[in-house]
Amino acid sequence: MIKPSMPVNEAERLAALQRYRILDTDREQGFDDLVTIARALCGTRMGAVTLIDHDRQWFKALQGLEGIQTPREEAFCAHTILQPLQLTVVEDALQDARFSGNPSVLGEPHIRFYAGAPLLSSDGYALGSLCVFDSIPGVLGGQQAEALQALSRQVGKLLEMRVLRQQIDHHRAEHDWYEAHLAQYYQQLEQLNMELSEQTRTDPLTGLPNRRALAAALSEAIERGMAVTPAVAIVDIDHFKMVNDIHGHDEGDRVLTELAGTLRSQFAGRGMAARYGGEEFVILMPETPMQQAELQCQYLRESVSLLPVGLPITLSIGLAAHRPGETAQDTLRRADAALYQAKHQGRDRVVVAD
Ligand code: GH3
Ligand code: MG
Ligand code: MG
Repeated sequence: MIKPSMPVNEAERLAALQRYRILDTDREQGFDDLVTIARALCGTRMGAVTLIDHDRQWFKALQGLEGIQTPREEAFCAHTILQPLQLTVVEDALQDARFSGNPSVLGEPHIRFYAGAPLLSSDGYALGSLCVFDSIPGVLGGQQAEALQALSRQVGKLLEMRVLRQQIDHHRAEHDWYEAHLAQYYQQLEQLNMELSEQTRTDPLTGLPNRRALAAALSEAIERGMAVTPAVAIVDIDHFKMVNDIHGHDEGDRVLTELAGTLRSQFAGRGMAARYGGEEFVILMPETPMQQAELQCQYLRESVSLLPVGLPITLSIGLAAHRPGETAQDTLRRADAALYQAKHQGRDRVVVAD
């Protein structure tokens, strides 16, 4: 037996083989089908698609005997790849110095006839072969030789298709990954946006809508132009500075929070209470006749004495109804002027704007 020599371009050839990522993969019907056709054409009992790795011959398809791989030095196909452009045909292995002492000639499966067409990579390296073989000597006709080479080219096409499929799968997986991450990112962004817009409309201490939200709601109520015009009240805690000075800022915050709770529950469903700034609140009462709005403000003023804050708290309230042609700011300005009067008249009262 003569051991096969190494191709001159062995390192590049192995690198090309690695690129196909086919070694040790599962059997695939497409390769088996081509071996079946090759055997039928050449009239042999055995056939294979082999790939020559650096120290072994590995079978992508094998018919007529069992096996996964053989040592490279015993492989017929390791000789075949030495001449990448032509078939290797051994009519009787016992008469061929390269193979006469080969274990698969002397023992199972007693190979005598062999024909192998090199299997070429797209860049021309001989990766292995499509081969047919038998335990009786034989010859290969001209047409059979041509057909075997044609089939070997088809095996090469199958290899290329596997690579393409792998690339597509890889791209698809990457695409799916990016898409999933993008969706997650958008969701976070949306959530953040919602939180931000909520923050720009909400007073952090009391959780009430802030001045900006109130102004927008008032403008909207005005634009709706209902039969009964909206009323606004500006509510200011009397001498609140003293609460801070005497009881501390934290206690002041608690009073603001408690009052906010009262405002929220009293006007829930009937309007909107907002923190206007500092110790001032605004109540928007849409579609509320002035008399009723004033009653509500009086009720609010009286109910603060019931606030569970342990301090005597009073409120001054300026109330104004929107007038036709007026902007939201105009109405608020008149309510503020009424509040100013309430302060001047002695506090703890409701004053209706002119
Ligand atoms: P007036 O009856 O004239 O309204 O007197 P006042 O003391 O309530 O009014 P002034 O404008 O002099 O003082 C308002 C105080 O409200 C001053 C400020 O320290 C306090 N204040 C404003 N915002 C907050 C807050 O968020 N928390 C606390 N604890 N105090 C606040
Ligand atoms: Mg004030
Ligand atoms: Mg005040």
